[in-house]
Amino acid sequence: MIKKATFLTSNSDYRKCPTPNKPEFAFIGRSNVGKSSLINMLTNNKSLAKISGKPGKTQLINHFEADGKWFIVDLPGYGFAQVSKTLKSDWEKMIKGYLTNRENLQATFVLIDSRLDPQKKDLEFILWCAQNGVPIVLVFTKADKLSVSKVKGNIQKFMATSKTIFEEAPLYFVTSSATAVGREELTDFMRQLTEE
Ligand code: GDP
Repeated sequence: MIKKATFLTSNSDYRKCPTPNKPEFAFIGRSNVGKSSLINMLTNNKSLAKISGKPGKTQLINHFEADGKWFIVDLPGYGFAQVSKTLKSDWEKMIKGYLTNRENLQATFVLIDSRLDPQKKDLEFILWCAQNGVPIVLVFTKADKLSVSKVKGNIQKFMATSKTIFEEAPLYFVTSSATAVGREELTDFMRQLTEE
């Protein structure tokens, strides 16, 4: 578990992000997927990433430092409905710049709502990742909301589609911010990546 995390900076340009001198982990997903809750759960801090009721509120690259040894990055959610084309292309420029250039990035976690059938916006985004050479790890969120078998069914459907997009199916984790399911698995995975 991460014991202490602090907010560092918000940026729209990867070049202005903190000096890349620590292993970094990025989190991204559709608005309302549970990203802020997951970051708060992982860092054991109820108010670190703001849990906003408003979709698409966080539109910058937000850096946090975890236990003085990692950077955790909250990326702006994709797929919010009422944005202009300009904002969408600004978003894409910012995200592409970050995901394809940030040299200390160890993993990009793409959050998927485990309650839902595969969603077009998620599939579009992971296709974009595949096309841009961005490796991803999937994190299915809100697993406490459905029965274990329903969650499994939804994950199977999503993984079946993911396999057609990536040569190798991405790794995935199942989490709940409400019950802390998946916290140890996810942080162990992060630790393994940084110790190799
Ligand atoms: P974000 O927009 O992706 O940052 O999503 P939030 O973290 O703000 O969560 C959106 C809503 O889903 C909030 O009402 C959260 O309380 C709820 N939520 C997030 N994660 C979970 C979870 O694991 N279990 C349950 N039951 N609710 C969750």
